[in-house]
Amino acid sequence: MDKREFLKTSGAIVAGTIASRLASGQSHAQQPAPHENWAGNIHYSTDHVHTPANLDEVRDCVKKCAKLRALGSRHSFNRIADSNANQVSLEHLNQIDIDEKARTVTVGAGVRYGQLAPVIDAKGFALHNLASLPHISVAGAVSTATHGSGIHNGNLATPVRALEIVTANGEVLNLSRDKDGDQFAAAVVHLGLVGIVTRVTLELQPTFQVAQTVYQNLPFSELEHNFDGVFGAGYSVSLFTDWQNHRATQVWIKRRLASGETHTSAPDFYNAKRATRKLHPITEHPAESCTEQMGIPDP
Ligand SMILES: Cc1cc2nc3c(=O)[nH]c(=O)nc-3n(C[C@H](O)[C@H](O)[C@H](O)COP(=O)(O)OP(=O)(O)OC[C@H]3O[C@@H](n4cnc5c(N)ncnc54)[C@H](O)[C@@H]3O)c2cc1C
Repeated sequence: MDKREFLKTSGAIVAGTIASRLASGQSHAQQPAPHENWAGNIHYSTDHVHTPANLDEVRDCVKKCAKLRALGSRHSFNRIADSNANQVSLEHLNQIDIDEKARTVTVGAGVRYGQLAPVIDAKGFALHNLASLPHISVAGAVSTATHGSGIHNGNLATPVRALEIVTANGEVLNLSRDKDGDQFAAAVVHLGLVGIVTRVTLELQPTFQVAQTVYQNLPFSELEHNFDGVFGAGYSVSLFTDWQNHRATQVWIKRRLASGETHTSAPDFYNAKRATRKLHPITEHPAESCTEQMGIPDP
């Protein structure tokens, strides 16, 4: 498929895949590992995928392979996680350790946001921001500075406090924001090039409630003239675009609530109309897998 055709069809393909996976209630963990990325537009170039069970096995794997590429949860749309020699999946490194005093959580490189969020919420903690899908791995999202949303929120690499990395000679390197300064800062968004990350430590904050309101059909002319107003309207704002019809079919506005606060949203938002029911990003699909809407507070 050439680039033009891919760009034309990829939105529909990816959206369809999200919808069918969410509608069937399947998680990635329950599916056999396909040797392609999640969207199905990239077929990886090797069948040699190693799945070590622990740090020592990761070290052995690194020592045995002359060439090796880490594979996250396979969500990148490009060949960044591909290899023509060997890949290593950290999916079995799924430990989650909360340090309440330090307000940090350390996760194995296989942990996905959907696994992490309920565990930290149960202990009264939250992350400042999340990936758009619960299936994306923390280590993979950090490695590419996955951006999340919200104009005042740093990307998903910003809360990283420490990394555990197996380097090319099989040694374990620990880097932390407090002790390693520039070396740490240079390693956080690593695009898979500093070694195999086995653990990531993230900063936590007290859990908080969000009231989300969805508006439908925001004209691009309004967006063009009120860009800062649209994206500054909440803690986090996402648009789902319809380039053919020059509009955003949906605007998702998340407002962060202070303790005990409630929020009543306006019926109109720059000529978009407040939705009267909970919506999936693809309006025709069932919305039960999506985060809470209609201004109802939720973690
Ligand atoms: C539906 C959908 C929506 C998305 N929305 C957004 C969005 O809103 N904003 C945004 O910025 N991105 C978005 N993305 C992109 C996605 O968040 C990034 O591509 C992210 O890097 C995927 O993480 P992954 O775990 O799947 O990593 P992979 O795609 O598997 O790998 C990505 C890179 O990380 C490296 N890597 C992964 N794990 C390790 C490890 N343990 N050690 C060393 N290197 C490692 C790989 O080598 C590779 O270089 C979206 C993707 C999808 C499919």
